[in-house]
Amino acid sequence: MGKLNKKIALITGAASGIGAATAQLFVSEGATVIAVDIDETNGRQLAHEVGPRCVFHKANVGEPLEVEAMVRFAVESFGRLDVLHNNVATAGAVAPVGDMPIEAWQRAIAVSLSGVFYGMRFALPQMVAQGGGAVVNTASVSGLAADYMLGAYNAAKAGVINLTRTAAIEYARKNIRVNAVCPGSVATPPLVRALGEGEGRRLLEEHHPVGRLGLPEEIARVVLFLASEDSSFMTGSIVVADGGITAHTGFFGHPL
Ligand code: NAD
Repeated sequence: MGKLNKKIALITGAASGIGAATAQLFVSEGATVIAVDIDETNGRQLAHEVGPRCVFHKANVGEPLEVEAMVRFAVESFGRLDVLHNNVATAGAVAPVGDMPIEAWQRAIAVSLSGVFYGMRFALPQMVAQGGGAVVNTASVSGLAADYMLGAYNAAKAGVINLTRTAAIEYARKNIRVNAVCPGSVATPPLVRALGEGEGRRLLEEHHPVGRLGLPEEIARVVLFLASEDSSFMTGSIVVADGGITAHTGFFGHPL
């Protein structure tokens, strides 16, 4: 018996990185997965690799009508929606607050914060109607503290964290749990590409007390825990999985 036996789960941003690892793990734990992404090529490839209990659905989570259609697709195809993993974000704008292009700010918030809201907005009524469910939102340590030049991402992720708490308390008596995971730096394609293999990557690894980046599978296992009955008394929890980076004050020290 898998931890998600016979559950219907929808994962956004499933064509790559944390979402792809979560799709793989959920299916191996008995779930049927609707893998949602804007990237049709990699999304279809992922579904093909994961097997017949993973179907691809194309949607842009920044568009409310597409998110409504995505939830409708899940329910019309499989009769219910037990787990929603809202996992898409875009860093969007890389600039100090005083120079940030307005349009880049708006795009980052539309995808990374509004996209998570739209997911819950359309999935929660379905979960209420069917008598329960679980939502796991991917936030970030960047929603708990700030990064230079990432104000839009920081604000969006902080918003995801508090929206998680709001939904959690509102739906707790409807048998719906809503939690969030806050990854530290995880070796997914965008970060690996941005860092390259040189000094930048080594410095970031060193900055984590564990001395390395996380793996997508390590975050997927936290998502599985929050989606499954293993976390049955948890709702509104913000679970940090960051190799110790937020445990550090930032003062210089001497790793052992
Ligand atoms: P990734 O780029 O590997 O995967 C993200 C996926 O989302 C891609 O397949 C992309 O096509 C899809 N996507 C982008 N915009 C979309 C849209 N508007 N609609 C639908 N799909 C869209 O990224 P990842 O690193 O796996 O990130 C997944 C989540 O984890 C994000 O919320 C990110 O903020 C969070 N996170 C990542 C890290 C990290 O270091 N990788 C750290 C903290 C938090």
